[in-house]
Amino acid sequence: MTDTPEDAPSKSHGRLSVRASLRPRDLMEEPLHVKDAWRAKVITLFPDAFPGILGLSLTGKALDLGLWALDTIDLRPFGIGKHLNVDDTPAGGGAGMVLRADVLDAALTEASLGTPRDRTRWPLIYLSPRGKPFNQAMARRFAACDGLTMLCGRFEGVDQRLLDYHDVEEVSLGDFVLTGGEIAATALLDATVRLLPKVLGNQASTEEESFSHGLLEHPQYTRPAVWNDLPIPEVLTSGNHAAIAKWRQAQAEAITKSRRPDLWQAWLRRKA
Ligand code: SAH
Repeated sequence: MTDTPEDAPSKSHGRLSVRASLRPRDLMEEPLHVKDAWRAKVITLFPDAFPGILGLSLTGKALDLGLWALDTIDLRPFGIGKHLNVDDTPAGGGAGMVLRADVLDAALTEASLGTPRDRTRWPLIYLSPRGKPFNQAMARRFAACDGLTMLCGRFEGVDQRLLDYHDVEEVSLGDFVLTGGEIAATALLDATVRLLPKVLGNQASTEEESFSHGLLEHPQYTRPAVWNDLPIPEVLTSGNHAAIAKWRQAQAEAITKSRRPDLWQAWLRRKA
């Protein structure tokens, strides 16, 4: 990146004010809530990775409308010396490089400007394979906050002292290792932003979908009524809403039981 420490190292993706192509029709569709919108701050060596796919479809439209906002904070300008180094070799030896606590701390200080100190209102997250596995309940918790700050790691990760000192919450996308935190941050944001009011046209769809009641979702079908000699299950075209609801519940239970015994057991316990 060409930013220098003198330049403002953060870039806002709340594109509302700068988008010349915003059509009058778009402006009339929703009231604009730019001021107090839910906001994500992402500390990354690759700010160009954002908004990425979040700039498309429903999340992108919501970003344009100011229903949420995204600031990237480029880690590079906080680097040390002529080469703006952000990493160094691991203490104790071993392969790879570790992001420096002092460099990350400076970026975190910049990110914390204008955000509440209360972590229940504004979580501070490090995307990490060692973190608590991300799930729908977490997405709901984050969506209920004012916003959040995320730190994307690279190389071997970050200096542990930084995580301890700032009491950073570690969140994992799953049991695999990515090359950096950016994809994980994007996934976390996608799952969270779609739960914000008005982002999905049809709010009811987040109440019915997988995980919302502790079960995986029932199968879905649409036209054509027969495809490759395969008809849509008869009950779904019956118009009998009670029978449809019963069928969907049974399907959701059967799928959850066979694919996710962990969710199934938890659901049985909750029901008991
Ligand atoms: N050495 C580390 C892995 C570093 S991967 C370890 O063994 O635990 C480099 C960066 O990618 C991490 O700092 C983290 O920010 C991100 N990352 C990798 N896998 C991830 C996952 N499953 N979930 C979230 N972030 C991940």
